[in-house]
Amino acid sequence: MKLQSIRGMNDLLPEQSATWQYLERTVAEVLGRYSYREIRFPILEQTELFKRAVGEVTDIVEKEMYSFDDRNGDSLSLRPEGTAGCVRACTENGLLHNQTQRLWYSGPMFRHERPQKGRLRQFHQIGVEAFGLNGPDIDAELLLITARLWKVLKIDHEVTLQINSLGTSADRKTYRAALVDYLVAQQDQLDEDSRRRLQTNPMRILDSKNEHTQALLNEAPKLADFIDQESRDHFEQLCAVLDGANIAYEINPRLVRGLDYYSKTVFEWVTTSLGAQGTVCAGGRYDGLVEQLGGKSCPGVGFAMGIERLVLLLDELAVVPDSIAQTVDLYIVAVGDIQQEALVLADQLRSQCPNIRIESHCGGGSFKSQIKKADKSGAAVALILGEDEMASATVGVKFLREDKPQKTVDQQELGNLLTTYFTD
Ligand code: ATP
Ligand code: MG
Repeated sequence: MKLQSIRGMNDLLPEQSATWQYLERTVAEVLGRYSYREIRFPILEQTELFKRAVGEVTDIVEKEMYSFDDRNGDSLSLRPEGTAGCVRACTENGLLHNQTQRLWYSGPMFRHERPQKGRLRQFHQIGVEAFGLNGPDIDAELLLITARLWKVLKIDHEVTLQINSLGTSADRKTYRAALVDYLVAQQDQLDEDSRRRLQTNPMRILDSKNEHTQALLNEAPKLADFIDQESRDHFEQLCAVLDGANIAYEINPRLVRGLDYYSKTVFEWVTTSLGAQGTVCAGGRYDGLVEQLGGKSCPGVGFAMGIERLVLLLDELAVVPDSIAQTVDLYIVAVGDIQQEALVLADQLRSQCPNIRIESHCGGGSFKSQIKKADKSGAAVALILGEDEMASATVGVKFLREDKPQKTVDQQELGNLLTTYFTD
């Protein structure tokens, strides 16, 4: 049997990792500028955590979780999303008691979905959560963060913001009943998926992709007519900040999100450049979740972005700076019986010039074959060391990308010379 990776779980190869690192670094930097701090928590949690947080009748819990029994019989699941684990970790460690938290995390999530472009079974998210803050100001801050991030990444022209308010869970209950009443009367006209959802999670019918169902929904009761005054004010104030910050948005009354825990604000950043999997970032407010998971009531709001989809977008738009793919500045060619000395010299250079990326040739070979490797490495400069150079404590400096004659330099002066060359 040939050993293979699991369907929908991809390897990240070195030639792609530079873009991932660039994205992850950029996000971490931007979040740092808003004073968000990183939190890490396990990939495995009790299955019960996700059942209670995400909801028993959601797609995720009904059919997408990777669950198994631990050796002692406990049911565990690979995390399908980050918010539940984040809330669990914060509650357990007393981070939510009489304080506010602005947090982010990053890592793999697991859902047993049908793999396709932008949809995997192991995918990666960067999540951001803010706790202990009730007002629309923090919702707005999260959207300011994302808007800035798209600008920094140069994808701001490719994504649009959709927002909606879900009101309170009591509002949604009333609305759900009205929606079910309306849809039951036309049940035979619904698509199969929606008919099933009518019994389990009727609000999800609102984002059905079926055109006929969408047409039916035009006449359906509107969630906006059911939400309470406080949620309305909250939403209006959020919109006011977005207007003030010149962040364009579209109010999408059918945006309900797939998880049960949201209340009031929900939002998605979507692109038309990735085909069907167009949501690159999504989130909302979840004021009831902490209590629902056994903590003391504490408001929360957050979002998660899909790293794979953002990487696809970055690649498609070719907006990643070329320099990040570059891994080597300087290649050290060592010909003859001097390879140990060459390695030591290279390491001294790394101490002297910590910002220069140096690759030492290993494995011997002729001058010609080593120079070929040097060229292929992408390095700007090759240092050439042979027995003569070692004897005279010099080194040949060959410029690989410029039409400049090779020169001989004292090993003593090399550090200064390279620092000047590579910082110019
Ligand atoms: P979708 O509607 O695309 O299924 P979702 O509502 O299930 O998304 P969330 O649970 O809100 O997604 O996750 C936030 C983000 O994580 C999504 O907007 C998307 O960018 C990414 N994401 C979700 N599921 C996957 C997946 N299976 N593969 C890759 N990325 C994903
Ligand atoms: Mg999904």
